[in-house]
Amino acid sequence: MSNSKNRKFIFITGGVVSSLGKGIIASSLGLLFKERGFAVTIQKLDPYLNVDPGTMNPYQHGEVFVTADGAETDLDLGHYERFIDRNLLRVNNVTAGSIYSAVLQKERQGDYLGGTVQMVPQVSNEIKARIHSAVEQTDSEIVIVEVGGTVGDIESLIFLESIRQMKKDVGANNTAYIHVTLVPNLSATNELKTKPTQHSVEMLRSKGIIPDILICRSDKSLSEQIKQKLSLFTDVSEDSVIECLDAKSIYEVPLNLEAQGLIDRLSDKLALPARPCDLTQWKSWIDKLKNPQHRLKIGIIGKYINTGDAYISVVEALRHAAVAERTYVKIEMISAESLCASSESTKDEAVAELLADLDGIVVPGGFGDRGIEGKIATVEYAREHKLPFLGLCLGMQCAVIEFARNVLKFSRANSTEFDPETAYPVIDFLPGQSNELEKGGTMRLGNYPCKLQSGSQAQEAYGADAVLERHRHRYEFNNTYLDSFRKAGLSFSGLSPDQKFVEIVELPLGAHPFFVGTQFHPEYRSRPLTPHPIFRAMIKAILAKKQG
Ligand code: GLN
Repeated sequence: MSNSKNRKFIFITGGVVSSLGKGIIASSLGLLFKERGFAVTIQKLDPYLNVDPGTMNPYQHGEVFVTADGAETDLDLGHYERFIDRNLLRVNNVTAGSIYSAVLQKERQGDYLGGTVQMVPQVSNEIKARIHSAVEQTDSEIVIVEVGGTVGDIESLIFLESIRQMKKDVGANNTAYIHVTLVPNLSATNELKTKPTQHSVEMLRSKGIIPDILICRSDKSLSEQIKQKLSLFTDVSEDSVIECLDAKSIYEVPLNLEAQGLIDRLSDKLALPARPCDLTQWKSWIDKLKNPQHRLKIGIIGKYINTGDAYISVVEALRHAAVAERTYVKIEMISAESLCASSESTKDEAVAELLADLDGIVVPGGFGDRGIEGKIATVEYAREHKLPFLGLCLGMQCAVIEFARNVLKFSRANSTEFDPETAYPVIDFLPGQSNELEKGGTMRLGNYPCKLQSGSQAQEAYGADAVLERHRHRYEFNNTYLDSFRKAGLSFSGLSPDQKFVEIVELPLGAHPFFVGTQFHPEYRSRPLTPHPIFRAMIKAILAKKQG
């Protein structure tokens, strides 16, 4: 595979333990190159066998991030987009499952012309082709490739082998290898230990990869002595041993890496011209983040609340919107199930108790009926108590169900996802779909256009007449009921251009300070410096309500 445009490939591997924050490091690097004027993209190689993370449980894998072109991807892609402020594509996330299924399909089609199909070269070639595709399809000068998992995992082996080969394919001055490890502090002696890093680098070298840079996660600063020791045992030059201490906010990580000259080291290795880096906007954003003038508390009523990662884009979108309004938002994760009590009176009590001190409520996306009645009870509380409310996808569907039951008096109205027999299927299957669908890859995914009704809160928030937003769902508002809802006071302020699909519902301003539900996921498009208009409108409405 040729590299005629002299593109640069930076590979990030991890060792010692998982969850070292390689995704944030990759994102930070991306930002630092972008702010030097380079066209950069970031790709994640995930060694698991699922074809994509779309069918994986958020408890195991966190949020599924959806790209504009409709790929269900690893949550790290969300970080990448938020840091480099660039839309990524399907090709930016590669799983072992997608590689093997492509190779096996080619084998069945006879593409290998009778050859024996092996890990090397057929599988490794497929992996390398995807890396080249990412840089080509996104027309980038630099691609940062994060290899998921840790060195030594059985699944990662072929990915390590492929990135090893890349050096020979495209040249040593077009490739750089970064290894992220942990340097633990032993509390008994208050000593940083380098041995796990030594072993991890040894393991990496046994796969033929010699790291150019070490990034050491640690809760204590690395002394010169520790850096010397790491350098001695790993052959990484001392000034390329970079520390990465826990930061208060992930958005500070690029500043810490920049201060240690990480990009200078990489530029030397990659023969890239030294360019000034303009972090003024980023820094002033962090300054705003750290110096809020207002505080508020928003509850996310969800199903996967014991993991920080299941609603990560929602949390970040709230944060971005709040910073734009110089506000600190405390986010409370509330279990939807804890709001589903057996009797009506205890349910009302539970809801009032858990929601009373919130300034706003978000009901995020989700699948399956666990906790649904709690989410619907939440919407009822928010509507009746005029508590600012934002429903995202399933959250919007819950708002529709609640309105049907309590305003229109459609007894036991529901989505056919939760009650196929309901007399009032106000949320229903997409036309033309059937129950026999496979679970993976059968949804309305990615960008679809939405026309905004003039004079609506949504249109005012966007300051536009039409928008493109990312979707991930199977069910829709059932248009049979449009008129009944309209007459009872719910506005359909966003519709697909052909008017077949309801995209946004809202209660008009006079009726409620902020009550908006979107069938799409606005959270995927929020970036620190360009917060999403709907989230920002919600924060503004909360502040206005508190001040007024
Ligand atoms: N389960 C709902 C559907 O499939 C909502 C999906 C979501 O919230 N992403 O339509």
